[in-house]
Amino acid sequence: MSAISIAIVGFGKIARDQHVPAIDANDAFELTAVASPHSRIDHLPHFADIQGLLQALPQLSAVSLCTTPQVRYQAARYALEQGRHVLLEKPPGATVSEVLELVRLARQRGVALFAAWHLRYARAVEPARAWLQGRRIRGLAVNWKEDVRVWHPGQRWIWEAGGLGVFDPAINALAILTRIIPGALILQDAELSFPANCQTPIAARLQLACADGAPVHAALDFLQAGAPSWDIDIDTDDGRLSLSNGASLMRVDDRPVELPASEEYPGVYAHFAQLVRERSVDVDLAPLQLVADAFLCGRRVQVAPFVEQPVSNDG
Ligand code: NAP
Repeated sequence: MSAISIAIVGFGKIARDQHVPAIDANDAFELTAVASPHSRIDHLPHFADIQGLLQALPQLSAVSLCTTPQVRYQAARYALEQGRHVLLEKPPGATVSEVLELVRLARQRGVALFAAWHLRYARAVEPARAWLQGRRIRGLAVNWKEDVRVWHPGQRWIWEAGGLGVFDPAINALAILTRIIPGALILQDAELSFPANCQTPIAARLQLACADGAPVHAALDFLQAGAPSWDIDIDTDDGRLSLSNGASLMRVDDRPVELPASEEYPGVYAHFAQLVRERSVDVDLAPLQLVADAFLCGRRVQVAPFVEQPVSNDG
């Protein structure tokens, strides 16, 4: 079977750090070109936009959309209309309704559409899901805190409408929760802290409930100095499950659990290859819906303006 010819659209940090190596390491794909207004890669053809890319390369089968979320829908829509398979970086769109429209369009055209929640491929996610089956959750705490100045230096789009602010990282925690917890998660209350000069929150507290009523507290912060906290602790009727370091580590009753090998972006592309072969759609909207719910019902608090000062991520 010949390799799937794929291009990356939006050649920023995540495209360079994760998508290029994951595609290069997967024989199912051949990275053919890049489309991005300014950024380029030396050895591949470059186009300023997706229209130029798809018109110039009719043999191109698939695109990975790694743009900022605010422009993802127009690019995805154009690619689907042109009959190309589409991978959407997280979040899959700036609104729920635009992603639903992409699902409809992909099904109508018979092409693959994948909303990639990369953290669902972290090592502890499937073991945690299996461990929770048959246990009763009593309560759950999420701590998702990092320093935006270290992890997203200069990314102004995060603070513009549709950029999600602290939910840009925290939607990863929601992607894990909605994968491992049996049944629905319902948002009950939210407090969102907006810097006076930003359209998106820099911190949030969420109160959710599992389907059977077990409480879920989430503390989200985008200004944590020092090491990040990417932790989820779940108390059940049969022990405590702890996921840390972005679900790459798992402990049960404080004892480390040995985990199978699993890498996030290689897992994303292995699944996308299968979706392309099947021409099928895998779009789970649950994490984005919870974020939308927080914006819908959250109480707003104004906090000090966000001033970006360079912070070193050494050590
Ligand atoms: P970034 O470094 O700011 O890159 C965004 C890129 O989008 C820029 O390179 C920009 O291109 C491009 N772009 C903007 N408008 C475009 C358009 N109309 N057409 C094509 N490209 C366009 O941001 P990032 O960190 O890579 O994040 C991108 C997405 O990946 C976000 O949704 C983010 O949530 C997700 N993500 C990021 C990380 C992370 O750790 N950074 C991890 C996982 C997922 P030019 O440079 O050419 O102007």
